[in-house]
Amino acid sequence: MSPKSWEVLFLQIDEILNFNAKFVENEEFKPYETSNIPNKKMVILTCMDTRLLELLPKAMNLHNGDVKMLKNAGAIIRDPFDSVMKGILVAIYELQAEEVLVIGHRDCGMSHMDTNVFTKRMRDKGISEQTLENLENAGIHLHDEFQGFTNVEESVAHSVSIVRNHPLLPEYVKVHGLVIDPGTGKLDLVTKAE
Ligand SMILES: [Zn+2]
Repeated sequence: MSPKSWEVLFLQIDEILNFNAKFVENEEFKPYETSNIPNKKMVILTCMDTRLLELLPKAMNLHNGDVKMLKNAGAIIRDPFDSVMKGILVAIYELQAEEVLVIGHRDCGMSHMDTNVFTKRMRDKGISEQTLENLENAGIHLHDEFQGFTNVEESVAHSVSIVRNHPLLPEYVKVHGLVIDPGTGKLDLVTKAE
C-alpha cells in the first residue's frame, strides 16, 4: 500500500534547522541587513507560485528591504477587509508605502481551479462529510471560498479596483496591476495609475 500523503516520511524542517544554525553562526545574514521600511515605498501582492519565489524579485530588480511582499493563491483580493487588504493598509499607514502592485501570472493554478475536484481531494485526505456539511450550514461555501478565475488580466483588474476604491485608501497612493510570465519573468501591464 502506498503511503497516504499525511504519513510524511521525511521532514524538510530538520534540514532547514541544521542549515539555519550554520547560516547564523557564519553571519551569512550580513548582506541582507536592512530596515522594515520599504526603500521603494511599495507593497506588492503576488501569487505564492514556486516559480516566482526568486524569479519575480530578480525580474523586477528588487532586493532585500526594497518592498513589502504579500502573497496568496492567485494574487487575489475579493473582500475589502480580507487579510491581504489589511496588509496593504498596514504597509501604507505604518510602513510608508505609496505604491501598490498587484501581480498575477500566466499559467496560475487558480485559473483552472475546479472546486469539485478540490473538495473531493479534501474527502480523499480524510475530511469527513460531516465537517463539510457543518461548514456549509455555517455559511462557509467552499465553492465560493476557493473559486479562482478564468482570465488573469480580469482578475488582476478586479483586485486593483478593490484597492483603488477602498474607503481607507489615501488619495496619494497609486495602484497598478501587472501579469508576469513565470517562465521568462516578462511583465505585462494591465493597468497603471494616472
Ligand atoms: Zn498562481
